[in-house]
Amino acid sequence: MIYLDNAATTKPNEDVIQSYTQMNTQYYFNPNSPHTAGVKIAHLIDKARENIKQYLNLNDKFDIIFTSGATESNNIALQGMAQMKKRFGKTILTTKIEHPSVLETMRALEDQGFNLKYINTTKDGKLDIESLKKLLNDDVVLVTCMHVNNIMGQIQPIEEISEILQKYPKVHFHVDGVQGFGKVPLNINLADSYSLSAHKFHGLKGSGILAITQIKMIQPIIFGGGQEYGVRSGTVNAPVNIALAKAMRQMNDRKDENIKALTQKGTEIRSFIEKYEGVRINSPKDAVPYILNVSFPGVKGEVLVNAFSKYEIYLSTTSACSSKKSSHNETLKAMGLSNMIIEGSIRLSIAPDLTNEQIEAFKDAFNKVYKEVKELLKYEL
Ligand code: PMP
Repeated sequence: MIYLDNAATTKPNEDVIQSYTQMNTQYYFNPNSPHTAGVKIAHLIDKARENIKQYLNLNDKFDIIFTSGATESNNIALQGMAQMKKRFGKTILTTKIEHPSVLETMRALEDQGFNLKYINTTKDGKLDIESLKKLLNDDVVLVTCMHVNNIMGQIQPIEEISEILQKYPKVHFHVDGVQGFGKVPLNINLADSYSLSAHKFHGLKGSGILAITQIKMIQPIIFGGGQEYGVRSGTVNAPVNIALAKAMRQMNDRKDENIKALTQKGTEIRSFIEKYEGVRINSPKDAVPYILNVSFPGVKGEVLVNAFSKYEIYLSTTSACSSKKSSHNETLKAMGLSNMIIEGSIRLSIAPDLTNEQIEAFKDAFNKVYKEVKELLKYEL
């Protein structure tokens, strides 16, 4: 099996699973219980929070909220901050190429009376800085975009955006960082909040964090016993949170070698595909090397995914999260791509442990699929 769908989810590390199992069997206590076992777990959670702040190089303004994943982190940050800031202004800004957990939350806020405006994106899928500048005014309280795009892999100009927003101290700048952690250099301190999901960096599903400033000001979206600084009530999932800290440490420790491996392997695959006439690489050249969006114009993405599956090569159409919502080809549409290219697009996303043998097997299968689709659909590529 050759797994090329790491942007959808990654394989959890063995020792992350072990740590989770061990915690569940030996240290299953509730960190809010007053007995010594509970206190011990509370201490472990505090330590995990501190470690995470260190791994992410966060300054003292940030706190860490453990969540069920980036969908929840995005919801807490966007809804919580918009509600808190609405007395200062009601305009909120994002782009049309965000993940549904951001787009749909922003649209829900619009339904609640916020004034939602979309920042333009350039042809290569980057947030258009000039458009952002034009939209900024005294009524803007929230700006959000992703760090690395999950469909195309382009990197958004976080530094530039952050610099521009310095002139607008009322604005909360939220970044959806899911696809970048441990694979691209990042300075989270440039944002006011940042979301991550553990399963995108070889941790467990149903586990994430929100790194956020001004935690005391944020309005909760889940009410109850007041856990997680009162922002996210519910019994704290200690085993999952500690496993997240472990996955993060491992990712951080291997950052340099991972970046090197991803660059070398991603570039090799890209150069290989580039040689095929009629096959179009949609990811811009300066996108991250580990996400590659490719179209065989005239051939449906689903057909290609099935064709590769026959060779036990698992990749996806646009993104696993949005494949249930066909309207979410918005990234590709916003980049001005035609319907034929959009419908024929597939996404390959690699992990650092992809072996040279697997790359060779992929090339072999690619060659066969190329010939098959040409033959089957009688399409002149
Ligand atoms: N943002 C981005 C950019 C993503 O790629 C994803 C997951 N595909 C999410 C948010 C949501 O993460 P989760 O499904 O783990 O909540």
